[in-house]
Amino acid sequence: MEKLAAKYNLRQNADLSTTNWFRVGGRAEYLFRPENAQELADFLAELPLEIPVTVLGVGSNIIIRDGGIDGIVVKLGRCFAEYAVTSTEYVIEVGAAVLDLNLAVFAAENSIAGLEFLSGIPGTIGGAVKMNAGAYGADISQVLVSAEIVTRAGEIRTLNNAELAFSYRHSNLPDGAIVTKAIFKGQAGNRDEILAKLNEIKKSREDTQPIRSRTGGSTFKNPDGHKAWELIDRAGCRGLMLGGAQVSEKHCNFLINTGNATAADLENLGEEVRNRVFAKTGIMLEWEIKRIGN
Ligand SMILES: Cc1cc2nc3c(=O)[nH]c(=O)nc-3n(C[C@H](O)[C@H](O)[C@H](O)COP(=O)(O)OP(=O)(O)OC[C@H]3O[C@@H](n4cnc5c(N)ncnc54)[C@H](O)[C@@H]3O)c2cc1C
Repeated sequence: MEKLAAKYNLRQNADLSTTNWFRVGGRAEYLFRPENAQELADFLAELPLEIPVTVLGVGSNIIIRDGGIDGIVVKLGRCFAEYAVTSTEYVIEVGAAVLDLNLAVFAAENSIAGLEFLSGIPGTIGGAVKMNAGAYGADISQVLVSAEIVTRAGEIRTLNNAELAFSYRHSNLPDGAIVTKAIFKGQAGNRDEILAKLNEIKKSREDTQPIRSRTGGSTFKNPDGHKAWELIDRAGCRGLMLGGAQVSEKHCNFLINTGNATAADLENLGEEVRNRVFAKTGIMLEWEIKRIGN
């Protein structure tokens, strides 16, 4: 590992608590910030397959456990944050580190409609593809043409929409694959009308979600025919606290770090909510937030 660490400028024992919205979590054994897809591919090709690799976006849907993450944590840097309108009509190519909001604004500035829903989702394009992120009845599966990925074995490939087999908050990315770029297709729109929609979304988010808190977005998936927040409310969990973690008073499918929560507080509170909802309604909620590490 030492040779690889020196060759690729890996940072050992890197603090991860600043890399996610909850502001919790331990350390990465090694942190790697590749300069481009080829460097990432070369590195993964050289890295023994038994060493685990975890990729992070901006950590807006993740609890990193207090014991940290073994192996390599990859964070895509600024060089993955480029975007351009292509020569095909209404088609935009973006790097996987681009923020969803920035893509929505870029599309609006270019009079391309259909990507407005992304403006309220505070993650990166890589995370959005992985999670099939969505809002207001739209999701990534409806606008994505294809994604460039680097496989765990270090191969650069392109997967089309069908190959990603999207379902609710899920994509079928191959295990260990890292999205490095994505191509989206929107449709003709009016710049000012699209920008007005973005403003509406911003206002509605501010009114209904604890977006200024240390949170991780929707904690649980909506079970078929139900809304997770309603079940949580019915089970009396609004405002419930465990250590420094709390179920948001504003939107009870959100957990909050009130200041000094550990990852264990957040995860244990989530489990407590699941148990109480099950006892009250017979429905076992499924985590939407990814919990990773030790
Ligand atoms: C206030 C708030 C509101 C939110 N609202 C919504 C909403 O309306 N709709 C919605 O869908 N989500 C919502 N979320 C959740 C979150 O923003 C999305 O899931 C987002 O897509 C996660 O992106 P990220 O870059 O932060 O990924 P992370 O949280 O860093 O990672 C999430 C998962 O994606 C993987 N991943 C990240 N980058 C890549 C990559 N390049 N290649 C492969 N895998 C990758 C990670 O390994 C992990 O498994 C909200 C979150 C917050 C905090």
